[in-house]
Parts: sequence; C-alpha cells; structure tokens
Amino acid sequence: MTPHIRPDLASIPAYVPGRNFPGAIKLASNETTLGPLPSVRDAVAEAVGHANRYPDNGAVALIETLASFLNVEPANVAAGCGSVTLCQELVQVTCDPGDEVIYAWRSFEAYPVVTQVGHAVSVKVPLAEDFGHDLDAMLAAITDRTRLIFICNPNNPTGNALSKAELESFLNAVPSSVVVALDEAYYEYSRSDADGIELFRNRPNVVVLRTFSKAYGLAGIRVGYAVAHPEIIVALGKVHTPFSVSALAQTAAIASLAAADELLARTDAVIAERTRVRTALIEAGYTVPESSANFVYLPLLELSPGYADASTESGILIRQYGTEGVRMTIGDPDENDAFLAFALTDEVKRLAGIGVSA
Ligand SMILES: *Cc1c(COP(=O)(O)O)cnc(C)c1O
Repeated sequence: MTPHIRPDLASIPAYVPGRNFPGAIKLASNETTLGPLPSVRDAVAEAVGHANRYPDNGAVALIETLASFLNVEPANVAAGCGSVTLCQELVQVTCDPGDEVIYAWRSFEAYPVVTQVGHAVSVKVPLAEDFGHDLDAMLAAITDRTRLIFICNPNNPTGNALSKAELESFLNAVPSSVVVALDEAYYEYSRSDADGIELFRNRPNVVVLRTFSKAYGLAGIRVGYAVAHPEIIVALGKVHTPFSVSALAQTAAIASLAAADELLARTDAVIAERTRVRTALIEAGYTVPESSANFVYLPLLELSPGYADASTESGILIRQYGTEGVRMTIGDPDENDAFLAFALTDEVKRLAGIGVSA
C-alpha cells in the first residue's frame, strides 16, 4: 500500500526550482539587487549568538515596533513567516470546506494554492483589458459562499495599481461578513494614493498584508505582517504555525524599520529605472502596462515561452506566465541595460511579434 495523500493535491504542480546558473542576471523574483544594510547585518549577526533559544512566538517587540511605525495598536498587527503564510492563514480562518475565495487572475501565484490547500474553492475573475483588477466583475462574483477576497495592489505580475477612490467604492459594496485582504507586497514602490492602513481603520472586514521581502530587501529571511481589527488578528494567531517567524527574522525586521528612511529612499531609484525601462520598451514597439511595482509585464501571449527561453539563453532570468506574458523585475541600472540590450535587438523584437522594418 502506498501512503494516503489527499487526492486533490495531485492538481497542484510539484515544486520545480527556477532555472539558475552562475553569472545569471536574476530578474525573475522581484527581489532587490542590494543586500541588507550594514546595521541590519550587524543586528542579525548578534541575534545568531542566541539561536539556541526559541523566538518570541508573539513577536512582541516586532509587533510593537510595527504598530508605532504604522500608527496602529499592537492588537492590530500579526507577524508571519513571509506574507504568503498570512495569505494561507487567512484562508484557514475564514473558510469552511467548499467556501469561496475570489481573486483576480492573473495575480499572485500563491492564491490558488493556499485556497485549495485550505479546502476552499477559487473563483478567478479575469483582469480587465488594461491588466488591472475588474472590481465590478469581482463584486458580481460574490455569492453566499464567498468568505475571502484577495486584492493584490499593485497587482503581481501586471503592475497595475488601484486608486483610493476605486478601492473605497469597492470596499463599501462588499458585504461586511466577507474578509477583504489588501495584499500590498509592493506598497513601497507605488505612488498611488491607496494606503490599506487608512482603509482598514473603519472596516473590520479589511486586512492589509505587507512584507519585508520586497522593498526592505529581506526575501531570504522570511517575515511579513498583517494589519486588521483584533477579531481577525486573534483568529490568525490560532492557526499560526508556532515559532515560524524566526528570531533572526524578527531582529532583521526591527533593524530594517529603524533604517526605513534609507531603505525607502532606494525605491525612488527603482521607480526611475522602471520608467526608463518601460519607456524604452514602448518606444521599441512593446505593449507594457503601467506599473506601480518593481517589475514590468509584457503580455506576449503565445510568444511568451519562446521569449522567456531566449532571455534565459542570453543570461537573463525573467518569469514566464504560461502563454499570457512575462514579467521582468527592475534590477540595478546595469542589469536593466542588459535586459534592454537583449529586448531591443531586431531578432528578439521579432520573437515578441513586433514588426521590424527591413
Ligand atoms: C512577494 C509577494 C508576497 C509575499 O512574499 P513573502 O516573501 O512571503 O512575504 C505576497 N504577495 C505578493 C503579491 C507578492 O508578490
């Protein structure tokens, strides 16, 4: 007899490591190119000396630091082993088997997985023509089984951001029993007026998710957080995997908040590069949705696999989404130049379906 494994898991693809090779330019995972600041490295190095002890399971020091940073109460904050863990916990605390989770598609690849693992049912609402959320269609998809809605703002992988007014009218129309997760993993790169922390204050069904993995440059250390009314925060605590936010992660996050000004200043440089790359691509004939994050999306449809392969061959790793598109993370100027040198050749433009004059 073989061990019994939930049969429905067969439809979740087994993990396949992304392609990587020495010298590759990694523009596939929306990481920052720069490593942690010296002050953060020093704090983590110091914390290693106490690694024989369990971390604080309540992440009290981190949560208090976050609360004062965000001007909320500690009872409004939960920490997670990356915000992807908090996505999973939100499904666990809201859904009984067969309940529905609505999200836009394409969006963050973890949503379908955490939904299915949580025995809930995905309701995927196609993006609008401009590759942003179709909020009217998402409202129309709400049923009496809907328990959770993910809004990825800015949207990964397409980059579009919703405005405060768009989000407010959406949130006002969602029944207050349905939890809305505003996934703001790229908040720091957005210059839209939408700020989940403002929007959750008078809405007990809204939870904001943010992470230290992107603008704060700690993707390898694994720490993110949720901000919501205490009912949701207390529930998240009940399904939290004990001690999953390591002591090093808590320390690194606190040290990063102390250096927030310096880290956030880096986002201006990324935004300038995002504009430069997008403009160059558009001038060469590419379609590139406006992005409020640290990446740009090329909706190349059936040309996507060939394009991503050619990029890999040329030493640049980008992310391919089936036959929908590819996403390129904005790296440092040299890395972006390398991508543009690839993307703007006649041969590669042909691969992207751009008519090249003879
Ligand atoms: C990267 C990302 C996250 C979270 O990443 P963690 O490393 O788990 O904190 C969450 N949502 C979206 C949309 C992301 O792109």
